[in-house]
Amino acid sequence: MFYDKEHTVGIGSPGSISKHTGLLRNSTIYCHNDLPLKSLIENKINHPIVIENDANCFALAESKLGAGKDYQVVFGVILGTGCGGGIVFDNKLWSGLHGISGEWGHSIIDVNGYPCFCGKNGCINTLISGTGLQNILQKKLKKEITAEKFLNQKVYTSIEQEILNNFYSDFGKAISNIINIIDPNIIIVGGGLSNHDELYSKGVEKVILSSLNCDKEITPVVKNSLGDSAGVLGAAILPMQL
Ligand SMILES: [Zn+2]
Repeated sequence: MFYDKEHTVGIGSPGSISKHTGLLRNSTIYCHNDLPLKSLIENKINHPIVIENDANCFALAESKLGAGKDYQVVFGVILGTGCGGGIVFDNKLWSGLHGISGEWGHSIIDVNGYPCFCGKNGCINTLISGTGLQNILQKKLKKEITAEKFLNQKVYTSIEQEILNNFYSDFGKAISNIINIIDPNIIIVGGGLSNHDELYSKGVEKVILSSLNCDKEITPVVKNSLGDSAGVLGAAILPMQL
C-alpha cells in the first residue's frame, strides 16, 4: 500500500548515524554508540536496511497516518525517558545537514541548570524529560518516585505543587522555542508522559503564547493518535522516504 521497493527493512533507533563516519552517536543505548550499526545489521541479515532516529520515525508516522496527516509542517516531540523530536515537511522527513534535526531536548533553557548527559547544563532534557523530572524530584523531595507516578498524583504538597508548576512552565517555554524557530502547523506529543492531559491545558497554552513573537493565534499542541506503535509504524514506512 505504501511502498513498492519490497523488503527494505526500516529501523528506528535512539541517536543518529554520522554522515561522515557511518557510526551511530548520541544513542541512549550507550553500547550502540560508535558502532557501524547499519552495516553490522545489513551484513548479518544480508539485506538493505534504513535506520532513522526513533523520534523521527514517530514524527513521520504521525504526519502520514496520525494526528498530523492534514498538516503541512509537523513537529513530533517525544516526552519520555528523554526529549526527542522530528520534523516532517510536506510528508517528507527532514533529517537535517548532520542528521540531528528536531533535537529540541538539547536546547538550553537554563544556563545554570542541571547537568545533561550530553555534557552541557540546563538542557530541556534535564527539566521535563521523565529522567529529568525524576532527578528533580529526587533532589528536592529526597525520595525516589517516577515522573509518571508523580504526574498522576491526586494531591500535592506545596513543594510538589511548585515542582509541578515549574514542569508545566518549562514545557510551555520549550514548546514556544520550537514554534519561534520552525513555526510548524502542528506539534504532536508522544512518549511516556504524553498522556498527562494538563500538558494540553489553557495554563500551558498561556505560557506558550507569552513566549512567542507573534499574535495571539496558538499552534495546536496535541497528543499523538497512534499510541506506542507510532515509532514502529514510522520505521516501517521509512523506505518510502528514499
Ligand atoms: Zn543535553
